[in-house]
Amino acid sequence: MPFLHFENVDYSYPSGEGDYIRALIGVDLEVERGEFVALVGCNGSGKSTFARLSDGLLLPDGGKVTVDGMSTADKGSLYDIRRKIGVVFQNPDNQNVTTIVEDDVAFGPENLGLPPAEIRERVDWALNAVGMSEYAGSNPARLSGGQKQRVAIAGVLALKPELMILDEATGMLDPEGRREVLDVVTRLNRETGMAVIMITHFMEEAAAADRIVILRHGKTVADGGRELFMTPEVFTDAGLDLPVTVRIAGKLAAAGVDIGTPLSADEFAAAVAALKRGGKP
Ligand code: ADP
Ligand code: MG
Repeated sequence: MPFLHFENVDYSYPSGEGDYIRALIGVDLEVERGEFVALVGCNGSGKSTFARLSDGLLLPDGGKVTVDGMSTADKGSLYDIRRKIGVVFQNPDNQNVTTIVEDDVAFGPENLGLPPAEIRERVDWALNAVGMSEYAGSNPARLSGGQKQRVAIAGVLALKPELMILDEATGMLDPEGRREVLDVVTRLNRETGMAVIMITHFMEEAAAADRIVILRHGKTVADGGRELFMTPEVFTDAGLDLPVTVRIAGKLAAAGVDIGTPLSADEFAAAVAALKRGGKP
């Protein structure tokens, strides 16, 4: 049984005058425990709608969403579903609720009614996991964007979710902040086995995932591993960019120099170095 299961899911928003905007159309998707999935698509492709349907904030008009076998349409399961899935949103300023970092992180576990000792333990663990322990007593308002998002991630982590969905959580950050968040999430996925769905329009982030799902006009149009980048049209047809290293490699290939499909600066450098040594990349 997949952990998160979308079965032929439709969702429409009313748009006045009895009209509807079809945000998701017949979406089928399975995400297993421990997976690291990037969900990409241009503006309006349905990514946030997908996130809201995953934790039962919205319910499907057609089809079914289940989390660990529980339907989001079953009211009695929503509490359990929301303990299993944590969502981090785009704007860090809307997610910090108190004036002290550790109180912010404790907010979720307190709402679960956990015993104080357990809350303390989870808060310390979560702040450490995102590298923010030394800021436990700080005011979130004084932190950088990347640090605020790491605190927001700690707040979700303190609930010990089995799946974390980041809905363009790096969208408002500078490159340094984006790297901080991506590093933390990648490490948590590897070390704790927490599944991750990273919703992003930064292709460098998508390239860090094990699996990439592309949404276009509310439908999934591609779903695969890193090899998807070898058919660049699936990205460009969906209105997406390619990682800069893939674009340069494409231009080199057109000029008769094949360095494969490097997805990061490190892979690019390694491929060029191998070429220089006269070997195959
Ligand atoms: P994305 O996150 O990929 O940008 P969304 O899921 O936010 O896409 O939106 C999908 C479609 O649904 C878009 O056409 C958008 O305009 C529409 N939409 C999203 N939220 C609402 C809403 N609250 N009311 C009406 N239409 C909405
Ligand atoms: Mg969105």
